[in-house]
Amino acid sequence: MNKFTYLIPQNLDEAISLQQSHGERAKYVAGGTDVMVKIKEGKLTPEYLISLRHIIGQDRPFLNQETGELYIGAFVTHHMIETSPLVQAHYPILHDAVKNIGSVQIRNVATIGGNLVNAVPSADGAIPLIALDAKVNIYGAKGQRSMELLRFFLGPGQCDLDKGEILTEIVIPPLASRTGSAYVKHGRREAMELPMLGVGVLLSLEPDMQTCAKARICLGVAAPTPIRALQAEKVLAGKKIDEASIAAAAQTASEESRPITDLRASAWYRREMVRVLVPRMARLAIERSSGLEVPE
Ligand SMILES: Cc1cc2nc3c(=O)[nH]c(=O)nc-3n(C[C@H](O)[C@H](O)[C@H](O)COP(=O)(O)OP(=O)(O)OC[C@H]3O[C@@H](n4cnc5c(N)ncnc54)[C@H](O)[C@@H]3O)c2cc1C
Repeated sequence: MNKFTYLIPQNLDEAISLQQSHGERAKYVAGGTDVMVKIKEGKLTPEYLISLRHIIGQDRPFLNQETGELYIGAFVTHHMIETSPLVQAHYPILHDAVKNIGSVQIRNVATIGGNLVNAVPSADGAIPLIALDAKVNIYGAKGQRSMELLRFFLGPGQCDLDKGEILTEIVIPPLASRTGSAYVKHGRREAMELPMLGVGVLLSLEPDMQTCAKARICLGVAAPTPIRALQAEKVLAGKKIDEASIAAAAQTASEESRPITDLRASAWYRREMVRVLVPRMARLAIERSSGLEVPE
């Protein structure tokens, strides 16, 4: 393993200035669970690691009482999200996802920001956050900007960050009443493995509890980036939710997905599993929609 100097900036501007001075020789690091593996494997050889996690307090996710938005700092660990009573009670899709990332040891240090910036199609954190219509706040030398998380992913391992920019925060808009959601990581085993496929479904129901007001069907490892199955969502939105409409949406999602064949699964198998898992997650989302109150 090559030697590097570990730098600990005190604030975002200092981190950006260090990145600008050292350029390609420097790499940001948060929890280090991806960076350190790549350094060990010789895929990364930085001379400087610039630590981001000392900059901002790693607070638990918190709700803005005035706007109803949920804020999650980029340096918050998966463990903090997993154990957040707010997330457990109101954002089950996010809880489903983070509780199975890596192992306890990984979740204790790995951050949600690192998971998103890593931008692999299998990132477990990305699917629930896209289903929740999350935005990301980004800070750089030119100031702050904000964008939809869905548009943040450009390709495998590529995200919309300019040189030196830092992902600072994830913002989830207020939940509609009668919203339920669920995520499943499909693989040979749940822990210590990236998913073969990730499926997240969020459904908001009309007061009659039978008509779909809003649908989000999100897939990981089904395309070069995490995706929303937009045509499948249209099959449900505004329609009565029953087994037939759910099956039709699942079939459409399967046809919309563009998975590859790799060591972990074939493209055919992944498409089949989209057809199987979308209904399972939709049923769970419906079940959860009646029990969940909008957070106050
Ligand atoms: C054994 C093991 C099991 C794993 N299991 C899973 C799993 O089940 N599911 C899953 O999704 N992932 C898994 N991972 C991958 C990894 O743990 C996660 O992606 C993790 O969330 C990365 O976060 P980190 O803070 O450790 O990132 P780091 O390694 O610190 O950084 C990752 C990348 O993001 C950049 N970066 C980090 N934070 C920021 C920021 N705020 N702004 C700008 N750039 C930033 C870094 O420069 C680097 O390029 C696993 C990894 C290991 C080693």
